[in-house]
Amino acid sequence: MADTTFVLDGKEITLSNYKVVNDSVLNEIRKTLTSLPEDYNPPSTTSNNNDYLLSDSPYLIFLLIIIFIVIKVRSVFAEGSNKNSRKPSSHYNDVSVDASKNYDEGAGVDYYHYKGSCLDLKHSDIEFILEKYFPYYRNLEQDLQFRFFDRTTKFMYSKDFLIYSNEPFKEMPVLISAAAVQISFGLDEFELPHYNNIRVHREEYFADHSLRILAGNVEGNCITLAWTHLLKGFYDYEDGSNVGLHEMAHALYYQEMIIEKDEPDFINHFSLLMNDGEGVLQQKQCPYNLYSAYAFTNLQEFWAVSVELFFEKAHPLQTAYPNIFNHLQNLLRQNPLIPNQPV
Ligand SMILES: [Zn+2]
Repeated sequence: MADTTFVLDGKEITLSNYKVVNDSVLNEIRKTLTSLPEDYNPPSTTSNNNDYLLSDSPYLIFLLIIIFIVIKVRSVFAEGSNKNSRKPSSHYNDVSVDASKNYDEGAGVDYYHYKGSCLDLKHSDIEFILEKYFPYYRNLEQDLQFRFFDRTTKFMYSKDFLIYSNEPFKEMPVLISAAAVQISFGLDEFELPHYNNIRVHREEYFADHSLRILAGNVEGNCITLAWTHLLKGFYDYEDGSNVGLHEMAHALYYQEMIIEKDEPDFINHFSLLMNDGEGVLQQKQCPYNLYSAYAFTNLQEFWAVSVELFFEKAHPLQTAYPNIFNHLQNLLRQNPLIPNQPV
């Protein structure tokens, strides 16, 4: 990465800081996964609880719990001293929004609740955000950009955004919606109606019911993402790692294969993909330096990581696994090897 610093709403964000933290965490995962026992039973592939796991190393989790407790204690003291001077975030000041501030008792934190239908972002704002941060949109020819824009706004207006951060950037709903629209761009249905809520954490977060640390997960009717990881995914668009596309792949699977079950084409191509996927999983590792160890957790993670590679490493994936690439192309009805006209 030549340029690791950029500006969002006047705030400077340095990706290299996050990269250092996350690389060390990812190294821990690799160690954890390579030491899994032979008879390890992966979770069911039909579960509606998928995650982009950063770590379940007990030592790292212990360390992070201590850090978490220290941060919580400090924030309680800060809360007490700032009670009367606390203001809502200013990052949405230039747009008309209907937002409410709420408290999540389970997580013990405040969050902002934005109804997508009331966001009322300017057309030019959305266009600017897509052009600046979203390579898939940037590469499209103009007619397809119009269609992509239209789908992104429809998706965004149909969701509620719960932002667990004191910095609710307007880029958040736009880029998250665009991630969903990207993977379903060749399909007729794109709104993922099962998922009413999109939850956004600023950084990696603890899972609701366990001590796992996540960068994204899909559970119930909620898609949750860590904002810095989502940004990094689209900033490093050729590294094969993209938590936004990963979580939308889980959500699309659940919407089409478990909830609706009425698209024979999708079901057939998904079955073909899983048949070939089983063969790849049996090899226990990828000899082409493409699939991460996490992809070998189970078929559901294999599917989500395959979608990341399909968009970010289309050529290498087609060369190493032509059948997987073809099934993905038929399933999603698009070809990322033609970036200006993928559909
Ligand atoms: Zn996953």
